[in-house]
Amino acid sequence: MTDVSKIFAPGGVLSQTIDGFQPRPAQQQMASAIAAMNDDAGVLVVEAETGTGKTFAYLAPALLAKTDDGERKKVIVSTGTKNLQEQLFHRDLPRIRDALAPDAIVALLKGRSNYLCIQRMDQFISQPIKHDPAVALQLQQQSRVVKYWANQTRSGDLGELTELAEDAIILPQITSTADNCLGRDCPAYADCYLVKARQEALEADVVVVNHHLFFADAVLKDTGFGELIPHADLVIFDEAHQVPDIASQYFSESISTRQLQDLAQDMRLLYGTELKDLRQLSTVADQLDKCGRDLRLQFARDPERGNWREQMRRAQVIEDSERLADTLDRAQAIAKAALGRNKVLDQCYERLVLLKARWQQLTNTQRSGYSFWYETTPRQLSVHQTPLSVAEKFTSYMLAQQMQWVFTSATLAVNGSFKHFTDRLGLGSAQTLVLPSPFDFAKQAMLFLPRYLPAASDPTMAASFAAIAKQLIAHNHGGTFLLFTSYRMLNQVAAILQEQESSDRLILVQGRTSKRELLDQFVDAGDAILLGTSSFWEGVDVRGDALRLVMIDKLPFAAPDDPLLQARIEDCRLRGQNPFQDVQIPQAVISLKQGAGRLIRDALDTGVLVVCDNRLVQKEYGQTFLASLPAMSRTRDIAQVTEFLSKD
Ligand code: SF4
Repeated sequence: MTDVSKIFAPGGVLSQTIDGFQPRPAQQQMASAIAAMNDDAGVLVVEAETGTGKTFAYLAPALLAKTDDGERKKVIVSTGTKNLQEQLFHRDLPRIRDALAPDAIVALLKGRSNYLCIQRMDQFISQPIKHDPAVALQLQQQSRVVKYWANQTRSGDLGELTELAEDAIILPQITSTADNCLGRDCPAYADCYLVKARQEALEADVVVVNHHLFFADAVLKDTGFGELIPHADLVIFDEAHQVPDIASQYFSESISTRQLQDLAQDMRLLYGTELKDLRQLSTVADQLDKCGRDLRLQFARDPERGNWREQMRRAQVIEDSERLADTLDRAQAIAKAALGRNKVLDQCYERLVLLKARWQQLTNTQRSGYSFWYETTPRQLSVHQTPLSVAEKFTSYMLAQQMQWVFTSATLAVNGSFKHFTDRLGLGSAQTLVLPSPFDFAKQAMLFLPRYLPAASDPTMAASFAAIAKQLIAHNHGGTFLLFTSYRMLNQVAAILQEQESSDRLILVQGRTSKRELLDQFVDAGDAILLGTSSFWEGVDVRGDALRLVMIDKLPFAAPDDPLLQARIEDCRLRGQNPFQDVQIPQAVISLKQGAGRLIRDALDTGVLVVCDNRLVQKEYGQTFLASLPAMSRTRDIAQVTEFLSKD
């Protein structure tokens, strides 16, 4: 294999071929560490801080890796979100591939709900279901847009259809799920976009996926296609700090009332079209639908999450659960009696068997080793069983796959230790590497911890936060991010600023338009104020003066009623450890590092980070947070901050 460190060295291939490429020792070190992973199933965990250039550092060895037979290694690169996946595939990967391995084949693979399902689209058009007029009109308009695009698309990737909102009501009608896809029995199989995307992924040397798809695939053997993601020699997780939570979700068992509704709809459709003699099918489908709705009605109107074990002590919930179990049983018997008459019916039968078994599991809440929880949306209820720890499941999956694994992110270590991350995935023997940022944080950035703040939960906190924000913004000739841990606080501060801010600076508030649109407006304005919650704490890259001030309302401890957190706390207690020390603090440190990481994105960036939480200085654990942040100069004196911000 080519010596990968030479590629990154001054005067190396990348300096010669990529405009603006700057050799960075940390990048070279990371690339060399990946290239040196020779053993059969090595695991490398790398914290590569902002500015190290980790994307090229893993893409270069990925493109150049060869097996012992001299063949290109098959590599899966998994990113945190679909947006990052597209950015990697369309922007970073082509640049480095052209420079290093122009003949390497690369592919982008998304989850099945991202591809047009020709079969369901045909069904939707030829057998329209009655809806109320407003919904029918929306569906009609959206269907026109989809049909026009469907005639031209090559990939069937619905991401191309930018005119369609992400939550457009037509989407479930024209995409498939593992439940309703007909697989090889599908009349449209030969033209199926998902099959083609999977085929391209099979033939590619480097496949770009996202963590959700990776784990859905690892856990769920898709009916009809088997696994979507091909086997690989090397898997690289970017934004790897998200992996443990996402893995927990997918190693969970869940049922949503939405699945019951979808199944009931397919059964009614069958009765209305091809199995007109099976009136019982339609009757039991209505009952199934009603069971789902009745269960949802047992919960408050507003969305909530909570402990399912506790709910299963309520007489009415028990009664509705039993009725659902009976109805699934009856529906299964009706479908079984007609097996072999119709492929869709056979598939409905399989779904009923699965749902019945799963519902039995989810209502048997006495078993230990799991967290049982539920979540509601305005119309749906979903019930989940999450293992207290995924370490065992994940390590056995890793062993079975015999691949090499790289986990990287700018935020993996807590006070220099990876234990918090590696314990969750069972990666105790992994090789670890911390690559410091090349930025001069002491000169480029200042950390301000304001004095005389009320307690984080004090009702006057919003007013205090807004007063400090106003004072600092007045001296900031660039843009400002105000990052919150709750919508309540965001809305209170937004109301105060909108009433009192007398300058003509643009104030942008999360939720009023899409995230993309808000960010575009923020960058264009150059000195805007953006108020956001969790989705702005990570994956946002604003360089230069457009972002010079980041204010955080309090330490980002996760809400104690978060079911995934509760599962981890329970697991930690069972191991005899201290949940606050070993679970809650590390989680909040990683989140704070993410939020703080929005500020300095470039060697020329300067700016101030403000954290409005007394606990940073008053509590002993505050030190763990401070030691995990980049080494910025630190002050409690607002005059020093305004002076720093006033500089050009
Ligand atoms: S194979 Fe599945 S995804 Fe493909 S067109 Fe048929 S039903 Fe849709």
